[in-house]
Amino acid sequence: MRAAVLTEYGKLTWQDMPMPQPGLDEVLIRVEYAGICGSDMHVFHGDFKSRTTLPLIPGHEFAGVIADTGPNTTRFSPGDRVTVDPILWCGQCAACRIGHYPACTSLKLIGIDMHGGFGEYVAVPEASVYAVPLSVPARHAALIEVYSIGFHACSRAGLGENDTVVIWGTGRIGRSILQAARIKTKNTIFCVDVLPSRLEKAGLSDPDIVHIDSRNQDPVAVIYELTDGRGADVAFEAVGHAVSVPGRPDPVRCCVQSIRGAGTVCVLGLGDAPAPVLMKELIWKEARIVASRVSHGEFSDAIQNLKDGRLDPESMISAEFPGSGAQKAFGLLEKEPENYIKVLLNFSESG
Ligand SMILES: [Zn+2]
Ligand SMILES: [Zn+2]
Repeated sequence: MRAAVLTEYGKLTWQDMPMPQPGLDEVLIRVEYAGICGSDMHVFHGDFKSRTTLPLIPGHEFAGVIADTGPNTTRFSPGDRVTVDPILWCGQCAACRIGHYPACTSLKLIGIDMHGGFGEYVAVPEASVYAVPLSVPARHAALIEVYSIGFHACSRAGLGENDTVVIWGTGRIGRSILQAARIKTKNTIFCVDVLPSRLEKAGLSDPDIVHIDSRNQDPVAVIYELTDGRGADVAFEAVGHAVSVPGRPDPVRCCVQSIRGAGTVCVLGLGDAPAPVLMKELIWKEARIVASRVSHGEFSDAIQNLKDGRLDPESMISAEFPGSGAQKAFGLLEKEPENYIKVLLNFSESG
């Protein structure tokens, strides 16, 4: 089979690889589409060297059809459309013992710690596989993992149906939260970004979604004004690598400032720099900060809502390349990150 193989850090080569064989408890998937994630960029550059062994087929966001099944598997037949939850937790650590799997201290990912979905075929444990109705195109099914992160963030924040929400950052993760939050709450959602093009294309044009360009407007002031001085119930920080806007505090502190008393801030941005928070602003509000990592049981929610047409997958997709164009796709994502949200690799027509 052909695959986009990380042969050296910074270089994906489209080449032949041995056909994977499903183990006893595994299924073989013929990959149709895979998405490129921020973590894939880190893998590409060797930032996860302690976990990655070359040559590696990366890719943890993918969908395809079952091609073959291992002898102990029972749930799937060839031709079924599926996607894969790439997270493999250890089951032994303190977090795993209380069932809090996203916090596993030795969390492994298909596509980082072992071969993933940037090839024509991949063998994965049956337990990690979710059925997707054939009515959901594979191009959209490849986004289910990203959507599961948005639904997980909503559940971590305890988002209720009347909650006012603010989302700092409308990139891949912010957009996934926006679309999940639009399903979970009937109230106003504020989206804050520094890139007007991102705000415009954030999807779900809806009068109850307010876009704030933080370079021209003070987001906290706008949120208070439009909530009659109350503040938002929940704020999500999905900026990632801190973008400093002159005259504005860092995004986490802005989140704290924008919520009401006893509100919730949910942080997801994986920046490397410390995010200064003025603790008294948090304490006065007796507010809650919760973190959200990967997902935990939200694949079904994402699949159901995608099937029901309640998500806007096309607004997530900026470009599509054949699997053989992986190196080019990574180059573009690196050169012009502001112009691309989700870039998909198509493996069904790679030839
Ligand atoms: Zn990802
Ligand atoms: Zn664990």
